[in-house]
Amino acid sequence: MSCLFCKIAAGEIPATLVYQDDTLVAFKDINPQAPLHVLVIPRRHVATLNDLSAGDDALVGSMQRAAAAIAKEHGYAERGFRTVMNCNAEAGQTVFHIHLHLLAGRGLVWPPG
Ligand code: 5GP
Ligand code: ZN
Repeated sequence: MSCLFCKIAAGEIPATLVYQDDTLVAFKDINPQAPLHVLVIPRRHVATLNDLSAGDDALVGSMQRAAAAIAKEHGYAERGFRTVMNCNAEAGQTVFHIHLHLLAGRGLVWPPG
């Protein structure tokens, strides 16, 4: 298994976990872009958003709900937060195991860069 995020999900590479269940793991981004920057990943390897099927709809929904719960736990539910999933080169995807970025704790500009 050569995938970095599969290794984090398996506990083979350390990360600061903030949430985990049977299907998801959430951990602090190593290079945070906001006071709270968490990555929510499925335990199962899926390389990009292009590789999802209809059977993954609940999985992706659970990623968004986990992010909202983590934001709330950290006090950002009312202030606001952003979730982002980058797909392939032009969006800046660098790790090819899908991940939902949760960003909170500062004003976030729109449109993003
Ligand atoms: P992408 O650019 O693919 O959307 O996001 C990948 C994210 O993974 C980046 O924000 C990067 O900082 C983060 N990242 C890369 N390697 C590691 C690592 O080994 N540990 C953690 N916690 N985050 C990582
Ligand atoms: Zn993987």
